[in-house]
Amino acid sequence: MAITLGVVADDFTGATDVASMLVRGGLGAVQLIGVPAQAAAAAAVGADAVVVALKSRTTPAAAAVAESLAAWRWLKAAGARRCYFKYCSTFDSTPAGNIGPVTEALMRELGCDFTIATPAFPENGRTVFRGHLFVGDQLLSDSGMRDHPLTPMRDSNLVRVLQAQCSEATRVGLLRYDTVARGAEAVRQRIAALRAEGTRIAVADALHDADLRTLAEGCAELPLLTAGSGLALGLPEVYERLGLVRRRADAAALETMSGPAVVLAGSCSVATHGQVAHWRAAGRPARALDVRALLQGGAAAAAEEAAALAWALEVLGRAGVPLLYSTAPPAELAAVQAAHGAQAAGERVERALAALARGLAAEGVRRWVVAGGETSGAVVQALSVGALRIGPSICPGVPWTQAAGSNETGPRPLWLALKSGNFGAPDFFAAALAMT
Ligand code: ADP
Repeated sequence: MAITLGVVADDFTGATDVASMLVRGGLGAVQLIGVPAQAAAAAAVGADAVVVALKSRTTPAAAAVAESLAAWRWLKAAGARRCYFKYCSTFDSTPAGNIGPVTEALMRELGCDFTIATPAFPENGRTVFRGHLFVGDQLLSDSGMRDHPLTPMRDSNLVRVLQAQCSEATRVGLLRYDTVARGAEAVRQRIAALRAEGTRIAVADALHDADLRTLAEGCAELPLLTAGSGLALGLPEVYERLGLVRRRADAAALETMSGPAVVLAGSCSVATHGQVAHWRAAGRPARALDVRALLQGGAAAAAEEAAALAWALEVLGRAGVPLLYSTAPPAELAAVQAAHGAQAAGERVERALAALARGLAAEGVRRWVVAGGETSGAVVQALSVGALRIGPSICPGVPWTQAAGSNETGPRPLWLALKSGNFGAPDFFAAALAMT
């Protein structure tokens, strides 16, 4: 096994996003869930890029550093020659990190004295100009990210944000738009100058995909890159030119996807609401979970789980595709959260969906469409999935993926479409299934 690019991603759906970008560029990509055990190695055989999905965005910095280093050491041992630290395109982090500390630790580990940082993802409206991050037409600090529950972003100046997360010895600077606009050679020259001045990390401006391609080319020799998923769009071509990989026309090919299918929605995001409504309006079979019964616990909860499973099996029995959802309107969600606490309610719903997933897997379900980032994590764990081969894209950031069978699911592969809450058009569920 010799992989070319090892990616350390700070969350699950972000990992899928960057893996999907690399596949679009012609690299075979595998996503591993968590720091891989030896057993996971087989899944990565033949992949050009391996993405390790961590859950390190908001953990204490020391833990994020330790996990990220463990992930990179595994990737390096598996043959990775370049490292890519992937974070969110809105630079989600706390004042304590973790983007700065993880970047510094990876630099030390890789023995490199310079890298870039750019969350730019123009296709999704994330651009960086003079070091300031924009979300659409708004500065990051004016966007909804201002009030994010875990990582409120109130400063759009990424040079300042990143410097505050780094030690004093790590000087953070800027690779400005006017340089990027002049092309890869100008980028290389500027990097040499920044390095000579003692800058260790440069926030890189990018307004268009073309800028990301220029950056990919200008930074191709750097052993470590740190970015959102946007920068990955330029890498396959550049690495091919360097002789590191050969791009493949069939990078996204999976085995023929077939077998019983279900849709599980545990997201209350606006896009998921629309998708549940769209599915119902088309007259497809759907059942809302009785979250209040689940939260009562005891016999009421057990009865609800059993009834939901029985209903889904009945639909599968007549060759239908059941949608089970906990998606609730804001007022209902707020009432449940006020009564039981958001954390406890969320965990109970995740547990129910995980139990349903196990029950459905035991009955032979092979194709899974799942809405919700945390929900996807719970389902993947319930199905004992350790690695996902990345297949064709359903919508930007969401590919079909294939997992090997397990003790829970039997020897045949499974196919999973794992969607973070706000992704996808209203017809996402049916559109995903129509591709199989
Ligand atoms: P998203 O990607 O939209 O953020 P997630 O799955 O990451 O979706 O998070 C949604 C959270 O809300 C999960 O913890 C889920 O269990 C919880 N949840 C879903 N439906 C309900 C509900 N009806 N009441 C309370 N919590 C819910």
